[in-house]
Amino acid sequence: GVPDSLIQDAELSIRDTLLKSIDNKNIEKYLSRLTEKPHIAGSVEDEDLAEYIRQFWLDVGFDEVQMAPYDILLSYPDMDNPNFIEVLDGSEQIIYRTPIEEDVLTPGKNNTEGIPPFNAYSPKGIVEGNLVYVNYGRVEDYIELQKAGINVTGCVAISRYGRIFRGSKVDIAQKHGAIGLILFSDPSDYAVDGQNVYPDDWWLPGSGAQRGTIFTGGGDPLTPGYPATEYAYRYGESEVKPPLPKIPAHPIGYTVARELLINMTGDEVPDKWRGGINITYRYGPGFIDNNWKIRMNISTTNVRKNSTNVIGFIKGKIEPDRYILFGNHRDAWVYGAIDPSSGTAVMMETSRALAALVKSGKWRPRRSIVFCSWAAEEYGLIGSTEWVEEYIKNLKERAVAYLNIDISVEGTDTLRSKTTPLLYRAVYEATKMVENPNPEEVTAGRKSVYDTWLYNRPWTINNQSHNLPQMESMGSGSDYAPILQRAGVTSVDFRYTYDKKAYNISGYPLYHSQYETFYAVKNIIDPDFEYHGAVAKVGVELARSLADSLIIPFNVSDYAWSLENLRVAFDKENGDKMRAKIENYDDLEKVIQHFDRAADEFGERMKNVDKNNPILTRLINDQLVLLEKAFLDPAGLPMRPLKKHMVIAESAYDSYASSSFPGLVDLLFEIEKATDPDKRWEQIKQHFAVILHTILSAASTLRDVT
Ligand code: GLU
Ligand code: CA
Ligand code: ZN
Ligand code: ZN
Repeated sequence: GVPDSLIQDAELSIRDTLLKSIDNKNIEKYLSRLTEKPHIAGSVEDEDLAEYIRQFWLDVGFDEVQMAPYDILLSYPDMDNPNFIEVLDGSEQIIYRTPIEEDVLTPGKNNTEGIPPFNAYSPKGIVEGNLVYVNYGRVEDYIELQKAGINVTGCVAISRYGRIFRGSKVDIAQKHGAIGLILFSDPSDYAVDGQNVYPDDWWLPGSGAQRGTIFTGGGDPLTPGYPATEYAYRYGESEVKPPLPKIPAHPIGYTVARELLINMTGDEVPDKWRGGINITYRYGPGFIDNNWKIRMNISTTNVRKNSTNVIGFIKGKIEPDRYILFGNHRDAWVYGAIDPSSGTAVMMETSRALAALVKSGKWRPRRSIVFCSWAAEEYGLIGSTEWVEEYIKNLKERAVAYLNIDISVEGTDTLRSKTTPLLYRAVYEATKMVENPNPEEVTAGRKSVYDTWLYNRPWTINNQSHNLPQMESMGSGSDYAPILQRAGVTSVDFRYTYDKKAYNISGYPLYHSQYETFYAVKNIIDPDFEYHGAVAKVGVELARSLADSLIIPFNVSDYAWSLENLRVAFDKENGDKMRAKIENYDDLEKVIQHFDRAADEFGERMKNVDKNNPILTRLINDQLVLLEKAFLDPAGLPMRPLKKHMVIAESAYDSYASSSFPGLVDLLFEIEKATDPDKRWEQIKQHFAVILHTILSAASTLRDVT
C-alpha cells in the first residue's frame, strides 16, 4: 500500500491549494449581487436567486444540481391595509399612530422595495387594552411582574427585543393571558453608543425595527413531520401542532417605543429593567390618563407559496454514498447583507474553490460534498426541515456531517462555533490552519483564527478552565437544528462575531432591519472582506477534512467528556430535586462512565485500524457516523415529539438556547406549581429510564464489530 507519510503529503498540498484559492474579492462580488434586491422567502426575487445559485454551481463545475421546491405556509403584511399601533384617548381619538416603514438612510435605496417590519405568522386582528411593560418577556420577567402585583391578562404587553428568541416571547406572553405583544429594539441593546448609528456605524437608528418569525415550531406549519410536497396532507391552520401564535405581535424601533412608553403609569421598574430610552420606565398597566388605551391593528396574513432549496453535488470518488452537507439559507427579510447573504457569499466561494480543484482533474474528494441553499429559513427553518423530512431515510443512512453557515461575519473579534462534541477537534484543527485576518492580532503573536479564538474565548466549563477555545452547544435558530434533531447528523455552525465582553448585546444591532445592506458590510463591518475570507477558509478546510480523510475526523472521547460536563451542569441545577424522587438517579453517572470506557476502547481501535483495508476503514467510519444517530429516540422528547435527540435540544423557553437533557428539564419546569406533580414525577421516571437506555445503546454502537 501507499505509506502513511505519502498520503499525508498529498493531503497537505490539497489543503494548502484550497486555502490559497479562497479569494476575498469573489466573496465581495457575490455579496453585492445577492443583496441587489430584497429577497424574502416566497418572492420572485428569492426564487430568481435560487436560479442564480443553480447556474453558478453548474458553471463552476458541480456534477449535479437539483431544485427542491416545497408548497409551504408563509406570512406577509397586507400592504393595502398596513400594520400599525395607536394610542387612543377616552373618546377613541387617535393621539399617536406608528409609522409603517423604516426611514430611508442609504442613498439609492428606496422605501417601497422591501416589506416593512412585521412579525411573521402574527394572527391578524385588532386588539385594544392597557399596556404592560414586561422587560425581555422571559419566564423570569413574568415572575418579577407577579411579585410586583402586576397581571398581564387582558393587556397588551410591550417587551424589549434580545436575550431570547422572539417567538418564545410571544409564546410566554400568550401563556400569561396577554392579548397582544409589541416588540421593540431598546437602545441599551441596539444603540449602546447612542450617537453613532447607521449609516455611520453599526448601531441601529431610531426608526429601525427587527422583523422576524414568531412561530416556535420548525418547518412548514401545515405539514409537521412530513414533506410539503404535492402529496402532503395539510392540517388546518387552527389545528396544527405545534400551534401557530394566537396573539398579534408587531415590532417597532426605539423612536416609536418612546412615544408609547413615555405616557405609561404604574410603579417605576427596578434598575435592571430600565432600558436606554430617556424616560422613566414603568410597569403600567396603562397610561397616565387611565382613559387612554393602546390598539394594535395587524393585517398580516398567512398564505401558501412555493419556495425552493437548491441542492448541488460534488460526487465523491470512493464513497459517493457518504455525504458531507454544507448549507446556508438564502431568504432574507430585506437585503440580508449580513443575514444570510454574508454566509451565502462565503458558501459560494467555498464551493467554487472545491469545484475548481475537482474540475482541474487533480483531485476529487473521497466522499460527496452536498451544498444546500435553503429556502424560507427565516419563517422557521422551513426549507431545511422539509428536505430532511423528504429524505430522512437517506440522510440517516448516508449523511456524515453538516456544516452550517448562516450569518458569516457579524463582527471582527473572534470566530465562534456551535458544535456537537464529535466535531470539536475537527473545528479546532481547521481554525489552526487559517491565518488570522486581523493584522494587530498577528503582531501580538496570535497567528491563526484558532489563537485569537482561544485568547478571546477560553473555555470554562462548570467553573473549570480548559486550554481550549469555547464551543457553544446547539439550540435552534438556524438550519442545523432539524438536521441534528431529525436525522442525527453531527453538526457545526460557525461565524466571525463581535466582542461580547465589550458589548452586552444579544446580536448585531442591524439584525433583520432594512439597514442590513451591502453598504453596511462594505463600509462598516468588513471593507476588505478579510473576515469573510477567513470564514470561507475554515469552511473549505472543514469540508475537505471531513470529505477526504480516510478516517472521518470525529473524536468519540469528546462525546464522553461532553456528556459528563452536561451531567454535572444538570446536577448542579436539579440534583437535589432528582435525588429526592428518583431512586436510581446516580445511574446517570454510571452509564456515562460506561460510555466513556466504550469511547476509549473505540478510540484505540480507530487509531490502530489497518488503513489499507477498505472494509475495515469503512466499518470504523460507519460506527463513527452512527454514534450521533444513536442519541435519537424515535418517540422524541416527552412534550416535543419532533425533537428526537435525548441529550441536546433547543430550550422550550428560548429556542435559541440549548438545553441539556431537555426532556428532564421540560418536565421539571415549575413542577412545584403543577396540578398533578405525582404524575409529572412518573413521567420523569419514565423519561429518565429512556435517557439511561439511550446512552447505553449509544455505547453499544461503539463495540468491536470485527
Ligand atoms: N433564524 C430565524 C430567526 O432567528 C428563524 C429561527 C427559528 O425559526 O428557529 O428569526
Ligand atoms: Ca413538513
Ligand atoms: Zn439567518
Ligand atoms: Zn435571520
